[in-house]
Amino acid sequence: MSTNLQTPIDYLKGVGPNRAELLRKELGIHTYQDLINLFPNRYLDRTRYYKINELQRNSADVQIIGQIIKFEEVAQKHGKRLVATFQDNTSTMELVWFRGHKWIRENLKLKTDYVIFGKTNWFNGKFSMPHPDMELLKDHEKNIQSAMQPIYPSTEKLTNKGVSNRVIIKIMQQLFTETKGRFVETLSPELLNNQKLISKSQALFNVHFPQNQELLARAQYRLKFEELFYIQLQLILKNLIHKSKIKGFPFEQVGDYFNAFFKDHLPFELTNAQKRVLKEIRADLGSNAQMNRLLQGDVGSGKTIVAFMSILMALDNGFQACLMAPTEILSVQHYNGLFEWCKKLNISIKLLTGSSNTLNRKNIHENLENGDLQILIGTHALLEDKVKFKNLGLAIIDEQHRFGVAQRSKLWHKNTSPPHILVMTATPIPRTLAMSVYGDLDISIIDELPPGRQAIKTVHRYDNNRLKVFRFIRDEIAKGRQVYIVYPLIQESEKMDYKDLMDGYASIERDFPKPEYQISIVHGKMKATDKDYEMQRFAKGETQIMVATTVIEVGVNVPNASVMVIESAERFGLSQLHQLRGRVGRGAEQSYCILMTSHKLSNDSKVRLDTMVRTNDGFEIAEVDLKLRGPGDIMGTQQSGVLNLKIADLIKDNDILKTARYWAKQVLNNDPSLTSPNNAAILNTYKQMSKYRNIWNYIS
Ligand code: ADP
Ligand code: MG
Repeated sequence: MSTNLQTPIDYLKGVGPNRAELLRKELGIHTYQDLINLFPNRYLDRTRYYKINELQRNSADVQIIGQIIKFEEVAQKHGKRLVATFQDNTSTMELVWFRGHKWIRENLKLKTDYVIFGKTNWFNGKFSMPHPDMELLKDHEKNIQSAMQPIYPSTEKLTNKGVSNRVIIKIMQQLFTETKGRFVETLSPELLNNQKLISKSQALFNVHFPQNQELLARAQYRLKFEELFYIQLQLILKNLIHKSKIKGFPFEQVGDYFNAFFKDHLPFELTNAQKRVLKEIRADLGSNAQMNRLLQGDVGSGKTIVAFMSILMALDNGFQACLMAPTEILSVQHYNGLFEWCKKLNISIKLLTGSSNTLNRKNIHENLENGDLQILIGTHALLEDKVKFKNLGLAIIDEQHRFGVAQRSKLWHKNTSPPHILVMTATPIPRTLAMSVYGDLDISIIDELPPGRQAIKTVHRYDNNRLKVFRFIRDEIAKGRQVYIVYPLIQESEKMDYKDLMDGYASIERDFPKPEYQISIVHGKMKATDKDYEMQRFAKGETQIMVATTVIEVGVNVPNASVMVIESAERFGLSQLHQLRGRVGRGAEQSYCILMTSHKLSNDSKVRLDTMVRTNDGFEIAEVDLKLRGPGDIMGTQQSGVLNLKIADLIKDNDILKTARYWAKQVLNNDPSLTSPNNAAILNTYKQMSKYRNIWNYIS
């Protein structure tokens, strides 16, 4: 029997309670298994031993065999440094320590062969190596040898408490000794053969103690493949189980509401993309399974009407529906938009937000429970326990990235049997990422903008060109257009941001004096009712300029606004910039986005600004964003658990991901319950994973 890999790390020889605690806290290593899955960030070549007279002034890490001849303490500005003279048969150099002198003098032996390893400096006409990694030559020869030295992830605390890379290597060696390096195979013979993968044991050994470059590459490939394979397998399985187990309410008919709206009240011809997506949703709602669908569509692509028509399908089958949005302003806007349509169809609709008054709430609660109320729009307030539906058939969540997974599941439990769920997002998520993160959701994409939209012209201007920019704004206003001017709001320096906003507002008031110009202002410190009032004035065209912090980021729809000025644009992230720009270009007029910055720009900021100027394509922007920030950030912390990959990289290992997904599908197609003896290893691993790692129950 092999060692149980769930054994707590404390039991590994050489670890002990203090180190175990550190490993847990700093690296999340609780068990043997966790330690094995601590993969090196990089490797250093240790096939070569240098002679001191071969050292170059710009040497990277080198290893040298030699002896310490003497120690010497040298006074320096602060305290002392310990200097050892180190010698091989070609020359001498210095080893230098700034800390831990006592321990070193007591433990390091003079005139004994050591292998030292580290970076060298050229200083005062001599080579020196600060805080070298040292090992007695006779121990070095006994250890598991590897051609390359792994460099493990570490933290400052670990290093300070003496858990150096060398110590990690030591305990890793201990683990391989205790387990005899034999690990249970986790992939099926079929996969190993087909993909020409090396065995699990070989892969783990070579990733920690690479015997040569080729084996290292094969080890990494195998482990990445495995990691991505199981993610895909779990996602696909979950989706399959879900579809077979969780019965939805079949919306059998496309009924009167839908037909009446489609025939008599459709405000515009639907785009082909909208029609296609509606068909996909219709197919889900008509089947017996519960819908769990992500609707992706760039800003302005027309998701709202798709949402509304899906709601009509629910209503036609006698069910209620709700639509949840992340901000008050956005829910109000949805409510106002949908209210107009509902009036024509004689449908009851209400708005529930944090600022709804008690009387209103009570009324809503009652009418929801007795079924008089058909549609409820609102913010997080919808999630409160008091909000109970008579028969909620469809729940729609707008702007998914603002909501966590937990909230999706709350909606889910609003009924005895879960409602159909439609999640809408304007964050264009690259396909590969969507596949990994939302593999459990079906995905619909609106990849076409309504006709007649002109591409927004985007320019980058420096602050000292402000007068020119203001002149341009005046010209646009003279043509009857409206303008947004947006200031960043970043929580850490909220006060400063607020000041920037107010200073900006004051200067805009000077340059655009009343009564010729009217200005709205909206920011986070205002009461919801005041915000709403100001928004409405702008929406009705009573004001020409809207000065705002990023509260307008999501969803606001004022088609007559054609200029978006973004102040301190270098402080915004790409997806935010894209969202903000999406506020203009909604009408028939040529729209503009002006990115204002100072001259001080980081490289990343430059890339962001260039990208915005170059393209309007949300997917292209998302790809750049993904490269700049990494996937965890993009999806927000809620989902980062899913993306917490140990060895694979969603961007770099895109091809492996595709292969892994292909094989996961293949395996499940041939053996959906994984009961064939050939798939025993896969079933076993799958069970283990669900047992020990509970990250996959994030919907239900
Ligand atoms: P988003 O996908 O960003 O939520 P909206 O649903 O708010 O986009 O739609 C953006 C604007 O485009 C709205 O003014 C809407 O009325 C309009 N619109 C949506 N679909 C069409 C269409 N097929 N033809 C013309 N205009 C459309
Ligand atoms: Mg929207």
